Amino acid sequence: MKTSVIGFPRVGKLRELKFATEKYFRNEITAQQLEETAEDIRKYQWNLQKESNIDYIPSNDFSFYDLVLDTAVLFNIVPKEYKELNLSDIDTYFAMARGYQGENGDVKALAMKKWFNTNYHYIVPEIEDDTEIKLVGTNPFKYYSEAKKDGIETKPVVVGPFTLLKLARFTGNKSVDDFVDDTIKAYSELLNELSKLGVNWIQFDEPFLVHDITKEDLTLFDKIYNAVLAKKENIKVLLQTYFGDIRDSYENITKLKFDAIGLDFIEGKETLNLIEKYGFPKDKILLAGLVNGKNIWRNNYEKTISTLNLLKNKGIEVVLSTSCSLLHVPFTVENETKLSKDVLKHFAFAVEKLGELADLKVLAEEINFTEDNVFVNNKKLFSEDRNALNSEVAERIKNIKESDFTRLPAFEEREKIQKKEFNLPIFPTTTIGSFPQTADVKANRTALKKGEITEQEYIEFNKKKIAECVALQEEIGIDVLVHGEYERNDMVEYFGENLDGYIFTEKAWVQSYGTRCVKPPIVWGDISRNKSMTVDWSVYAQSLTNKPMKGMLTGPVTILNWSFPREDISLKECAYQIALAIRDEVLDLEKNGIKIIQIDEAALREKLPLRKADWYSEYLDWAIKTFRLTHSGTKAETQIHTHMCYSEFTDIIKAIDDMDADVITFEASRSDLLLLDSLKENNFKTEVGPGVYDIHSPRVPSVDEILTVLNKMAEKINPEKLWVNPDCGLKTRGVVETKASLINMVKAAKQFREKFNK
Ligand code: GLN
Ligand code: ZN
Repeated sequence: MKTSVIGFPRVGKLRELKFATEKYFRNEITAQQLEETAEDIRKYQWNLQKESNIDYIPSNDFSFYDLVLDTAVLFNIVPKEYKELNLSDIDTYFAMARGYQGENGDVKALAMKKWFNTNYHYIVPEIEDDTEIKLVGTNPFKYYSEAKKDGIETKPVVVGPFTLLKLARFTGNKSVDDFVDDTIKAYSELLNELSKLGVNWIQFDEPFLVHDITKEDLTLFDKIYNAVLAKKENIKVLLQTYFGDIRDSYENITKLKFDAIGLDFIEGKETLNLIEKYGFPKDKILLAGLVNGKNIWRNNYEKTISTLNLLKNKGIEVVLSTSCSLLHVPFTVENETKLSKDVLKHFAFAVEKLGELADLKVLAEEINFTEDNVFVNNKKLFSEDRNALNSEVAERIKNIKESDFTRLPAFEEREKIQKKEFNLPIFPTTTIGSFPQTADVKANRTALKKGEITEQEYIEFNKKKIAECVALQEEIGIDVLVHGEYERNDMVEYFGENLDGYIFTEKAWVQSYGTRCVKPPIVWGDISRNKSMTVDWSVYAQSLTNKPMKGMLTGPVTILNWSFPREDISLKECAYQIALAIRDEVLDLEKNGIKIIQIDEAALREKLPLRKADWYSEYLDWAIKTFRLTHSGTKAETQIHTHMCYSEFTDIIKAIDDMDADVITFEASRSDLLLLDSLKENNFKTEVGPGVYDIHSPRVPSVDEILTVLNKMAEKINPEKLWVNPDCGLKTRGVVETKASLINMVKAAKQFREKFNK
């Protein structure tokens, strides 16, 4: 059995690339020095893969920032304004990724978007009317030769022409059709040149195929590949798909002249059915993505071998592969020093997944594989109790009733009751929760972790910060206050650390974009809450003011979406567990006199399935219920807020209203007046606070600017339902600009009220 890896994490074992790149950005090292670090990383991981006997080792999966950007640059898709900066190649590249401000000019970065259903972000290529798509880059050649020099044969990986064109933005009058011929030429030339270099295999990544594909798209795909594949000579082409199945293109694609097709058997729930239904062509190799590239749990060898055998029995030539690039998992468990062996043995990060491929390569050829120790030990992992279970939690989940998802009385009645209860002015002002996490706040937390101060000292310091924060908000004249979230490092990590069932890693970083990496916590077992997590802070904050103080929680869907989930229970079940824990916290806050509670679902939209048909059945149906479970037990007087980081919910607006919160705040940056229209059309019932200024920039908005925004909002939103707030937490902002911005926001709200009351 041969094995293949789609891609490997490129940040390095200990994020070496991140640190080197950031040094380069700060002018502390030269481009040459950065390149040396990069070369070491590439060499190191090729050798790791060679040691694991991987047959199809990727090259050109390395990137200084992002693979889509690399592909754009490879084919000369560089907007004029970046070319005109006249920078070196690498600096032009970074200018596209991060913007440039200096002697040579002032240009913003290209847009960045979420890469399918992952937390990785790609740079959106921009094609202008006079962009000339042609092969100009050299990386695939360079990296192939570099590995070859080391005695390692690799398959260069390139984002395929279809996905590239579908992800690109066309900024002029032309569209995809105007660029198809040049794209075909450019990719054909790439094949030609690689073939001349002696390359055996090339991998074209076409993940766009896992979306709902239209007829036009299919025609486009066929047209491009018929042409590109017609001209290839000695080189073999692997069409690689991932993040789902390719149900609407499978039949077509298997008829094209690809030499191999890579399919995802982990997220592709229709993959096996497609093979059953349409068969798999005898003249092609099937790369079966059975080793999960997105999650960190050990592969179940028994299941994997049984699928491999099923495929082999159909007479298919199978290569075992990862389900997607390993970019989406951390580098190695070897970096973890605090977790016990008994815990770590359940995890496979990128390096360990290579080991799994190596194990399976051998096992799949053995007749008596079930007697092999490697197999036996693997099997044990799945039968053994990993102390993850909690019968009380299971019992509670079992006892959830349909009525637990419904808060009574209904929204309209609650709205009336709450208007009386709070007696807030029209257009009430509030913030999203966090206030600037200044150096002293972080130092206080670090000191506690290092044992340099006592728990009591830590608490006293935060109380002082809270008192200052409350005083500041009162001084500014905000209506609904927050405590500032000084005790939180991160909105998910904080709750993970306070809930039972979660575990944390030290170095399990995953690239989110460019040099930014995140360290998602791991859902290890049944989740429960054994103590209140936020009550003391909120109660203290409320004691300092007569204005309502919002209790501040992270919602269960967001907590789950930003973690590595379990695989032994469903996402829904896990979400319900977290929801019950948050529900207890909500009721605890309420019992302790907190009358407004915000449950943030910043990442709710993030895991929306790629196919529309799956939106409700696979996700929203339970995700919305999960949220409702957290607040259905509250009194009518208690006001439930929620916050979402994006306003991209025009298409799921009913579901958002169905969360049945009393107020929702969200990011309503520039272009999103469209959303306001759709709120109106859909008779959105929930009160709304579309952020009136952008907190992602240090700029202080003027009163007039905010008034303009408010005017526009009040045209579309019932004034009785409109709140005034920034568009996200203020954690990353400086103290001075925060105060200035909030002062302007409150002034604007007051002026707006006056005008409105006239
Ligand atoms: N309450 C959180 C904060 O203000 C929300 C953060 C977020 O939406 N990302 O920081
Ligand atoms: Zn936000």
